Amino acid sequence: MDSSCLAFLNIFFFCVCSASPPNFILLFADDLGFGDLGCYGHPSTLTPNLDRLAAGGLRFTDFYCTSPVCSPSRASLLTGRYQTRSGIYPGVLYPGSRGGLPLNETTIAEVLKPLGYATAAMGKWHLGYGANGMFLPTKQGFDEYLGIPYSHDMGPCSNLTCFPPDVKCYGKCDTGTVTVPLMHNEAIKQQPVNFIDLERAYSDFATSFITTSVEKKQPFFLYYPSHHTHYPQFAGPGAAGRSLRGPFGDSLLELDNTVGTLMATLEKTGVINNTLVFFTSDNGPELMRMSRGGNAGLLKCGKGTTYDGGMREPAIAYWPGIIKPGVTHEMASTLDILPTIAHLAGAKLPPVMLDGVDMTDLLIHQGKSKRETMIFYPVDPTEKYSLFALRLGKYKAHFYTRGATHSDTTPDKDCSVFSLLKAHDPPLIFDLEADPSEHYPLTVEGRPDIEALLAKIKQVKLQFEASMVFGESQISKGTDPDLAPCCNPHCSPKPSCCHC
Ligand code: MG
Repeated sequence: MDSSCLAFLNIFFFCVCSASPPNFILLFADDLGFGDLGCYGHPSTLTPNLDRLAAGGLRFTDFYCTSPVCSPSRASLLTGRYQTRSGIYPGVLYPGSRGGLPLNETTIAEVLKPLGYATAAMGKWHLGYGANGMFLPTKQGFDEYLGIPYSHDMGPCSNLTCFPPDVKCYGKCDTGTVTVPLMHNEAIKQQPVNFIDLERAYSDFATSFITTSVEKKQPFFLYYPSHHTHYPQFAGPGAAGRSLRGPFGDSLLELDNTVGTLMATLEKTGVINNTLVFFTSDNGPELMRMSRGGNAGLLKCGKGTTYDGGMREPAIAYWPGIIKPGVTHEMASTLDILPTIAHLAGAKLPPVMLDGVDMTDLLIHQGKSKRETMIFYPVDPTEKYSLFALRLGKYKAHFYTRGATHSDTTPDKDCSVFSLLKAHDPPLIFDLEADPSEHYPLTVEGRPDIEALLAKIKQVKLQFEASMVFGESQISKGTDPDLAPCCNPHCSPKPSCCHC
């Protein structure tokens, strides 16, 4: 019997005989590039646990997030919809943002709740805080939450120490706002958060959540959007100074250590063969931080751009006995995770326009991806400009290109903030299989085959645009400093008095 038959029988056996639906652990790194993991070719990074998942699972070469910055990418991951539909654009949410992921959007946690799943989130939420914490994870289908509700540089750096504790982390953070809080559900547990102990707190939280769920015989969904490896990096004593790659490497190693703890917990509780673990990242590396900003490998540019370095991500699916170890070159996306989890759990899809497709066949049977296109929206999508680029099969067409502050300082001048918005008619077309670095646009003129391809790309673009209804922008609602989380809400003077 060949291995694909065996995998099929495994999933069949699992579906028929398992007393419990599968568990899901979704790991989401921050600003981690295509070239940052050991299993994606980085020569000095230390990611033994993620490398082990890749060796025993399915590693993707053509996996995309939906935005080159944090909040929109997270909105798409959790809803299976482009961020333009949910209104998480332009840019990202801030501590005092009035908006957030609309409560009528359906998250993966809300898809699973009707089936009796225990749901928990820990880490960087970044889908809004709002008045009285109205946009926190506990309002979006998660039973429990431990974490920082936005990026950890969105507060004064004064409390952000690396290890040893008297060493300040490199660089600048936002000033004039509250120090970074650690939330437990809807209450502020620490303000400012203790970064040195943060990863230990997450490991303890995850271990307790998994163990309790298994004891209660309750299937679970754990979502861990990590602060690592967003700038400025931090690491506790288990990782600081222990990688070969400096602060970025230490931070990544600390995340990898937590992955090891999670896997050990799955082993210990006996559910490792009934749990899908999926790892990917929210957007490409922040190259403006140079060696502190991650690495896109051979891909062009990084965070903030719609080149592949901004949006093609490492991705690994691990489920021993169900997912056959290997590498896939099929195209897939964070959009596809919600429909896939829904299918595997036997849950209903939300009754809305989804952009994700079910990738069960790809994961379990080494089948083809149902995804033929990927849309590349800029940080600030508008109906006027619409999409910046579109991938169809192995071809990617750029209708607009632009550099970004986040990708500044790279030798490639196209990545620079001084590379202003440029329209391309005909679009720049790249064959990403022959030229993954997007260096050599194909010649359209005098090439009937490319002209036919271009006609097809334009048709797909028109069809997609006709299907897109922009949701009201949540981020354009602006900010109100009084909405930022404060552990002592009636204190004065703010924000410095928010210190408990
Ligand atoms: Mg990010």
